[in-house]
Amino acid sequence: MPRNSLSSPACGGGVSAKPEGLVSMTEGAKPPSVSPLHHFVVPLPRFAGEDRKGFVSLVGAGPGDADHLTLGALKALQSAQALLYDALVSEDILAQAPQKCVKICVGKRGDRLSVSQDKTNELMVRLAKKGLHVVRLKGGDPSVFGRVEEERLYLEAHGINHKTLPGVTAASAAAAQFSFPLTHRGEARSVTFLTGRTKDGSIDLRDESISDPMVSLVFYMSSHNADHIEASLLHAGRSPQTPVVIIENAGRPTARALSGTLTEMAALVAQAAFDGPVLMGIGVAFGYARLALLNSGPVKARLQA
Ligand code: SAH
Repeated sequence: MPRNSLSSPACGGGVSAKPEGLVSMTEGAKPPSVSPLHHFVVPLPRFAGEDRKGFVSLVGAGPGDADHLTLGALKALQSAQALLYDALVSEDILAQAPQKCVKICVGKRGDRLSVSQDKTNELMVRLAKKGLHVVRLKGGDPSVFGRVEEERLYLEAHGINHKTLPGVTAASAAAAQFSFPLTHRGEARSVTFLTGRTKDGSIDLRDESISDPMVSLVFYMSSHNADHIEASLLHAGRSPQTPVVIIENAGRPTARALSGTLTEMAALVAQAAFDGPVLMGIGVAFGYARLALLNSGPVKARLQA
């Protein structure tokens, strides 16, 4: 398994540390029984804010390898007694949790098979009610397309205390890795994070939210809709020459980035046949991307003129 592989041995099929009574977590599986967990739990330092009734830390893992973890996230991981993690969390980050910690992949990757949000919520509460420090580890920053509010509301409805620790969002990691700004004085006054995927699968881009040439747009979960997004931006009045950068696996050694103009965006995405998670950045700020040194993948970057 490569170090930064997106699929971990536990992912898609569920649980490491073999706690009795925890079943394989796939969609449609019966809810796990979590009763006999205590004998797996080693004495661990208490985590700030934890109480005796169990506690959930909603933690941002960042988008890539462990270098992106905040110190707070690392401390939370090291004191985890149960870990529920997303599919995008890398192996070297999971390795930071204690060996005896129960590790369960609840990860979603687009349309691929995953544990439903309802089951994840249920599992968090059941583990916390065992008195455990549960870490719900999420890719990037939990507050950016991370469903964190749904989880907080569910925890509160069940009387479970929680705390949120931020992470590096994929756009920030990509900007650092490929040396472009998200905002730039006089040229890109603000940045908007958008998604091309909504709950019902539709895409809803209003002209007024995407037309301003001074706004950097970063699309998450959207590469499958690149053609529609390209057409919508052109329709909204964005210049065909607007710089575009498309980044796969940001924050990882396997990162790839492609650049071009808005009218080339969908074709670039189609040509690249990405397999990892992908961001699409559109706006003048992305014209500063320095791609030449870092691209190592089969599709070579084209530098902006
Ligand atoms: N909370 C996460 C975003 C979760 S939504 C964050 O703050 O980064 C999942 C989407 O994020 C993916 O479909 C992809 O668009 C983007 N993403 C996550 N990790 C990424 C990475 N390493 N490289 C590029 N895009 C990534």
